Formats: sequence, structure tokens, C-alpha cells
Amino acid sequence: MGKSDSEKPVVGVDLGGTKVLAGVVAPNGQILATVKRATKPEGGPAVVVERVLKSVREAVKAAGLEPDDILALGSGAPGPLDPDSGVVLHTPNMPGWDNVPLAKMLGDALNVPAFIANDVDLGTLGEFALGAGQGHQHVVGIFVGTGIGGGLILNGELWQGWRRAAAEIGHTIVLADGPYCGCGNRGCLEAVASRTAIERDIQAGIKAGRESVIPELLKADDKGRLTSGALVEALRRGDTLVAEVLGRVQFYLGLGIASAVNFVDPEMVILGGGVVEAFGDEFLEPIRRVAYQNFINKRGARDVKIVPASLGDNAALLGAAVYARQRLERIRK
Ligand SMILES: [Zn+2]
Repeated sequence: MGKSDSEKPVVGVDLGGTKVLAGVVAPNGQILATVKRATKPEGGPAVVVERVLKSVREAVKAAGLEPDDILALGSGAPGPLDPDSGVVLHTPNMPGWDNVPLAKMLGDALNVPAFIANDVDLGTLGEFALGAGQGHQHVVGIFVGTGIGGGLILNGELWQGWRRAAAEIGHTIVLADGPYCGCGNRGCLEAVASRTAIERDIQAGIKAGRESVIPELLKADDKGRLTSGALVEALRRGDTLVAEVLGRVQFYLGLGIASAVNFVDPEMVILGGGVVEAFGDEFLEPIRRVAYQNFINKRGARDVKIVPASLGDNAALLGAAVYARQRLERIRK
């Protein structure tokens, strides 16, 4: 006798511009196996989809399962996309991704129902269902990386917005005449508090003659990248430039969070992404201070929890698995 749908595992995929992460997820949220590989976006959509499929098949095998054992697949993808039709509309950091029917391509190849959604929405859904947000009903997720993405859970449901473009908290304008953002506006939260902004401000400081251990740490990295680990190390060594730049980032993240809380009134704000996770909870205290100061409703302000994400790199994968199960249930109802 075959297993009922509610007992079957689903596949979650986190498709990004640099890496593909595929995992098999049991109904209780346990990850049974994962496979990671480079995205190689320069090959175009066909190559990328092939790499996703390969990763999925390997993960299914590594979990000791057959493709037929899988109930459904969910995948996060960057860029504007239509989760209802499963089409990626456009992806700025992956060439050739214009109107790509990603859900259909994955579903047809694997013979399972497949769904896609915004990767940050899924990261937030993952943290809500299986990570730091468990037990809460109204959650804002903010992920600080190359850019800053946001997600929103209202009444226990992912809120994607009428045009499926909700929670773009990275493009909240926090400094009206500030630096240009990738979106073309000025002074977005992303333009002053993302990893890109951190790098820009540190480089500008060094150019202006400020002392810093960063050039030395960059030389030590084989690819000359400014990693989160290098930032942690610079702070540990008392680098005043890095401390100042990160202090500014914390200030603006605090303002961004206050705006989100004043607007949505959530129970919890979850902060994730490489920079935040490298520093841990210590990094959050100055952010909390600024945020709480700027709450309009001060009553019970500290009951609005501002916490670090807990699922790390698996947040979007797990969220994709949760999302696929939810979408399938809705179709079958
Ligand atoms: Zn912007």
C-alpha cells in the first residue's frame, strides 16, 4: 500500500545567482538530504534548469528514495516572478531569464506538481514554519545580503501582495538624498545597509586615507572578497572604520525595522543573511535600540521580538518545501 500524501516528502529548491541548493524534506520539516552546486547562470535558463534537475535527482537518491516517492516540488527564485503561473518574469543577475516557465519545466521533467515563489518570501516562510518564527502568527523577515529582501507572514499565512511584490522592505527610503540603489531610487535601505553598501563605504574610507586592516584581510582571501568572516575579524582587531560603517548599517536597519513594525505591527521581526548571521545576536542589540526608540506604539514595545534567523542557508529550501505542500493542499481542496 502506498503512503498517503501527508506522509510523503517534498523537494525544496533554493535557486540563486551563484548556487543551487536542493533538499528532500519530510512532512515534519526534517531535511533528509541536500545537494548543492554552482548555478552557472552564464549558460542561460536551459543549463540552469538542467543543473537544478540534476541536484534534485541526486538529493532524492541520497535520501534513499525514488522520484515517484516525492509529493511535490517548491523552488525559490530571484527576480520578479509570478507564483500563480510559475513563470520567472525577469532576473537581473541571470542572463536570458525573461518569461521562463520554471515551475512547468521542473514539474514536467520530474513528473510532480511544481511551484515557485520569491526566494526571500520562502526564506521568511521557512523561518516562520520551522525556524525562529515558530509559534507566532505575524512575522516580518528581513534578509541582508548583496541586497536586502523582505517577507511577510500575516495571520499565519505568507502575504505575497496583490501584484505578488509585497514586503520589499529593502526599498524603503530611509535617507532621501542618499546613495543610489540598484532599483534607481536613492537612499533605499538596501543602498545604505546591504553588504554592497558596507563594501562601498569601507572602500571609500580606505581611499580617503582611513586606517583599516581590511586591505590586509582582502589579500589573505584567495579571491580578494570581503567576507563576513573578514568583517568579524576586523572588528575583533578594533578596526574603527569597520566599526563605524557597521554602526551606520545597524542604525539604518533599526529605522527600517521600526517602519515595518509601525506599519504592520508584527509579533516578531527575524533578521537573516550572511552579515547578520556571522555576528550573531550581539549585532542585533544596537539595531533593537534604534528600532524600539522609533516605534510609535511604545506600549509593550520590547514584546515585539527582533531576533536572528535560525535556519541559515536552509531557510529558503525549507520554505520552498512548506510552500509546495500548502499550494498542493489548496489545489486539492
Ligand atoms: Zn531601492
